Amino acid sequence: RTAHEDILRRQSARESAARTYARALPIVPVRARGLTIEGADGRRYLDCLSGAGTLALGHNHPVVLEAIRKVLDSGAPLHVLDMATPVKDAFTTELLRTLPPGFADHARVQFCGPAGTDAVEAALKLVRVATGRSGILAFTGAYHGMTTGALEVSGGATDVRVARLPYPQDYRCPFGIGGERGAELGARWTESLLDDAKSGVSLPAGMILEPVQGEGGVNPAPDAWMRRMRKITEARSIPLIADEVQTGVGRTGRFWAVEHSGVVPDVMVLSKAIGGSLPLAVVVYRDDLDVWQPGAHAGTFRGNQLAMAAGTATLAHVRENGLAERADALGTRMLTQLGSLVAEFPFIGDVRGRGLMIGIEIVEADGANGPMSQDSATADARRASPLPAAPALAAAVQRECLRRGLIVELGGRHASVVRLLPPLTITDEQTSAVLDRLADAVTAVAR
Ligand code: PMP
Repeated sequence: RTAHEDILRRQSARESAARTYARALPIVPVRARGLTIEGADGRRYLDCLSGAGTLALGHNHPVVLEAIRKVLDSGAPLHVLDMATPVKDAFTTELLRTLPPGFADHARVQFCGPAGTDAVEAALKLVRVATGRSGILAFTGAYHGMTTGALEVSGGATDVRVARLPYPQDYRCPFGIGGERGAELGARWTESLLDDAKSGVSLPAGMILEPVQGEGGVNPAPDAWMRRMRKITEARSIPLIADEVQTGVGRTGRFWAVEHSGVVPDVMVLSKAIGGSLPLAVVVYRDDLDVWQPGAHAGTFRGNQLAMAAGTATLAHVRENGLAERADALGTRMLTQLGSLVAEFPFIGDVRGRGLMIGIEIVEADGANGPMSQDSATADARRASPLPAAPALAAAVQRECLRRGLIVELGGRHASVVRLLPPLTITDEQTSAVLDRLADAVTAVAR
C-alpha cells in the first residue's frame, strides 16, 4: 500500500463522521500552485473548488506568499488579540478602498472570529442590538454557516424568530416561475408579510441575503429583486445584511456582488477570499449601527496578522489587475460554452451563474422531452418545466471529473448542482482545459 492510501485510510478511521469534502475527493494534497493541486500519489488536478471559493488568486500566489513572509521576517507578534497594528492598519485601509461607493465613507469594520459563520453571528447580533428587535428575514436555499445563529437563517432551518421568504431562483423558482416575474412576486410577498398585521411577522431586526446563493446551488438574485429588497427594507428601517462571504473579492464579476444591482446594504459579511487563503472574517456596517458596548462582542482570534497581510495582498492584487472584470469575461465565456450542454444532454437541466461562480443543474433525464435534441426551444422548455434533481448522476459527474484530474464541488438542496469556483487568475488555456474535461466527464456519464 502507498503512503497516500495509508493517510486516507488512517484519517477516515480517525476523523468525524461529519467530514465532507474528503469523502468525494480522496486526494492527499501535498503541493499546490495557482489552479493546480498535486496529490501524494503524484497525480495533478485542476482545482475548481478553490477552498470552497476562498482562493481568489489560486493556491500559493507569489504576492500572497511574499506578504506572509514579510510579516514572519519582521518579528511582528502573530497573536495580538484585537489590538491595532501596522498590518491591521494596512488591511483596513485596503478593504475600505474596495468597498462600494456610498458605503465605505460611513463604515465601521469589526474583526470577528476566524470563519464566515462567526461574522454572520456578529452581524445578526449587531442588528438585534442596534434595532432592539429580534426577528430576521431570511431566504429559502440560503447558506450562512454552521453555528447556531447562522443555521437559523440558512435554508433548511426553522426558527420562529426567522421568517423565511422565497428566493427568486430562475430555475425551480418556488413560485413556479423564474426571472423578473418571480422577483416581482417575491417582493410583493415580502411586503404583505411585513405590512399585514395578521401575518404574525413583527418588524424584524434585519434581512440577510446572498446576492448569489452559492451552497444553495448557484442562484443569482435578479438585480431588480435586489433593488426591491433594498427599497422594502429601507422604507421600514430594517437593516439589510449582504452575506458576501462567497461572492466577494471579484468572484461574480464585480468586486462585491451587490455592485451588480447598485444596492448599498447596511451590513456586509465578509470572509473566505479576504484572508488570501488564511482564516479571516469581518463585518462592515454603517457607523450609526455601531451602538455596541465595549466587549459586547469579543473573541480570542480576531487579529490573525498573517491572514490580514495575505488578505491585503489579495485585495490589492484583484483591484490593481482588474481581476473582477476578468472574472466577468471568463464567466461569460464559460456560461456560453457550458450552456450548449443543456441542449445536448437531457440530464443537464440548467447552467447558470455570475462571473466565476457557475452551477450546472443535474436532473432526472427519464421522460425528458423524448430523444436528445439540439433544438434550443426544447432546452428552453426544459428550463421552464424543471425535472426532479438527480443527486446520483451529479455525483457521477463529479467522479468522472476527478478521474480526468478536475476537482468540482456539488451544491444545491439535493447536492445535484455541479459547482465551479475557479480562481480569478485562471488562464484562457486552463479555462479551455477545464471545459474540455467537464464535457468529457458529462459525455462519459451519458454513456
Ligand atoms: N456565508 C456564505 C454565503 C458561505 O458560502 C459560507 C461558506 N460556504 C459561509 C457563510 C460560512 O463560512 P465558513 O464556512 O467560513 O464558516
